[in-house]
Amino acid sequence: MEHSIQLLGHLRCPKYSSIRGTMLSVFVKRGSSSRNISSLLSRFQSTLVIAEHNNEKLLPVTLNALTAAKKLGGEVTVLVAGTKCGPIAEQVAKAPGIAKILVAENEAFKGFLPESLTPLVVASQKQFNFSHILAGATAFGKSLLPRIAAKLDVSPISDVIDIKAPDTFVRTIYAGNAVLTLKAKDPVKVVSVRGTSFEAAKLEGGSAKSENAPSGEYKTDLAEFVSQELSKSDRPELTSAKVVVSGGRGMKSGENFKLLYDLADKLNAAVGASRAAVDAGYVPNDLQVGQTGKIVAPELYIAVGISGAIQHLAGMKDSKTIVAINKDPEAPIFQVADHGLVADLFKAVPELTQKL
Ligand SMILES: Cc1cc2nc3c(=O)[nH]c(=O)nc-3n(C[C@H](O)[C@H](O)[C@H](O)COP(=O)(O)OP(=O)(O)OC[C@H]3O[C@@H](n4cnc5c(N)ncnc54)[C@H](O)[C@@H]3O)c2cc1C
Repeated sequence: MEHSIQLLGHLRCPKYSSIRGTMLSVFVKRGSSSRNISSLLSRFQSTLVIAEHNNEKLLPVTLNALTAAKKLGGEVTVLVAGTKCGPIAEQVAKAPGIAKILVAENEAFKGFLPESLTPLVVASQKQFNFSHILAGATAFGKSLLPRIAAKLDVSPISDVIDIKAPDTFVRTIYAGNAVLTLKAKDPVKVVSVRGTSFEAAKLEGGSAKSENAPSGEYKTDLAEFVSQELSKSDRPELTSAKVVVSGGRGMKSGENFKLLYDLADKLNAAVGASRAAVDAGYVPNDLQVGQTGKIVAPELYIAVGISGAIQHLAGMKDSKTIVAINKDPEAPIFQVADHGLVADLFKAVPELTQKL
């Protein structure tokens, strides 16, 4: 792989806007002839997108991955594997521009264990010889793709935020403080894509046909699915919500998060949290936003009692509008906020909720 790194300083920090405007790039400029080669190359691509679902609903990140696949050019195939996944194949078929859907129904795929899915993807790769294999950069994709890459003896390319050419990908490093452009030379590119960086493909207008994925003995002795407990919530899902209200250590207790739930109810928002709030046990860890939590990019992100550590910013700085409420005027969160309120959250949040 070849790398180039763009140092962005603090991505949204006004102080660094001049750096932002003149990103330092050492990547060799592609001439028009290399651009022609790359558009020619894109005609020969064939991409496999691995659908993420729960046998009932297709998860939104698959639609983002489909958009990324289309950006690569060439034919797009979707793999739908599960125990009873016919309805998922029907949903996927509605997306325009898909050549075919490979369906694999097997008890071995109960729980979507990567140990069972890896041989299925490798068998599909052997049969169809895809140039790219894509999935969302979610817990599912992050556990599956490295295994596939290892079996195919290639380097996985993770958490891609842009695609410049079929062999050239952009991803962030150092908790989002630098952008890396890499050129992959492997014959098969195994790529996880960040959902928030690609528009969701629409599920209308398409009529792709389904066929059976390669059959095989996919049951594994390496792992067994026993059970899962899923948290249930009437609120929008954190990574796809249009509005997110997040609380940090400044909330001081789990009970005080009620203030944020009340505000979120008025805004039809999801509730998130900083790692400090999660570590203190105020809220469960599936609410964590940041480098080691979820990446969100809603229309509106309201950070309440959150200082703005880089690891937190890594998960939310692409939000369209950022509002911060913090009693410390020096808190770094104000450097990325579009609107800041220096105030005691225990006064400001109930007032805001009441006014809405
Ligand atoms: C490898 C690594 C990975 C990490 N990953 C993540 C991650 O994914 N997500 C993440 O969030 N962090 C992550 N962290 C932790 C991160 O470095 C910070 O420690 C954390 O984000 C701080 O959380 P916080 O802002 O809630 O707490 P603090 O930094 O303690 O900030 C609390 C803020 O609340 C304000 N406040 C207090 N009382 C009030 C009040 N009454 N009214 C208004 N404001 C008030 C304070 O002024 C302060 O700014 C990671 C750290 C490491 C080392």
